[in-house]
Amino acid sequence: MRVKVISILEDNYMYLVIEEQTKQALAVDPAVPHRLLEIVKREELTLVAVLTTHHHWDHAHGNEALLKEIPGLKVYGGDERIDGLTDKVTDAQELKFNSINVRCLFTPCHTAGHMCYFVWEDECADAPAVFTGDTLFIAGCGKFLEGSAEQMYRNLTQALGSLPQETKVFCGHEYTVKNLKFALLVEPDNKKVQEMLTWARARDDEDKPTVPSTLREEFQYNPFLRLTEEGVQKFTGKTDPVEVLRVLRQEKDKFKKPKERLPPQVLLALKWGLLRP
Ligand SMILES: [Zn+2]
Repeated sequence: MRVKVISILEDNYMYLVIEEQTKQALAVDPAVPHRLLEIVKREELTLVAVLTTHHHWDHAHGNEALLKEIPGLKVYGGDERIDGLTDKVTDAQELKFNSINVRCLFTPCHTAGHMCYFVWEDECADAPAVFTGDTLFIAGCGKFLEGSAEQMYRNLTQALGSLPQETKVFCGHEYTVKNLKFALLVEPDNKKVQEMLTWARARDDEDKPTVPSTLREEFQYNPFLRLTEEGVQKFTGKTDPVEVLRVLRQEKDKFKKPKERLPPQVLLALKWGLLRP
């Protein structure tokens, strides 16, 4: 099983999961469909399904166009608001595409219907992968737009945190440097955060993605997965892990609003409702 990482839009990722023997492929959040179809054609792949993490346009926008190009394509997701949805999935549901297996992990909070996908191949030594959309980022976690800290706590500790430690984490956005700057504010003495920030800045300079990480690595530097660590508790002034998470997310929201970095015409479009954040 090979995962192809494709950078799109300002800082989004879409992915292709490829079964190498048969060249069958699944797409994850293919928001720029013509780019995806070019790659499918060039690599002589057969696209059999789309896995959508959530309904936001920068993840689901390409589904309708792909359905038009590929009749019979299956579009999976956990939310009726997803463009082109053909098959609604529920928590723990498993899908099989030849030797590729997908377990759907319901992770409501960023949106009420957010789904992550745990993917592995039969009889294959490769580590499994998890596609986390806007729930878990490298060194960070998504905004609680339609849910609570209690829900995100369950997502991070149970749905995602209990997966095998070697699982590769493929997230929805390249926010790594920004996330690590916040992680360093939370835990200034954490060597792993310092090392990772140096590495992520170098990747950024070379225009290379920082995905994937592994869950094991995330537990070492991602403050949202380190809620019982003394330094993280001290930063938030809380000890109950759900409260630590709630305060951490509030502090991250204040830390640096990405909107301030957007060009004025995009800010206007957001204000007029022409774009959804
Ligand atoms: Zn989103």
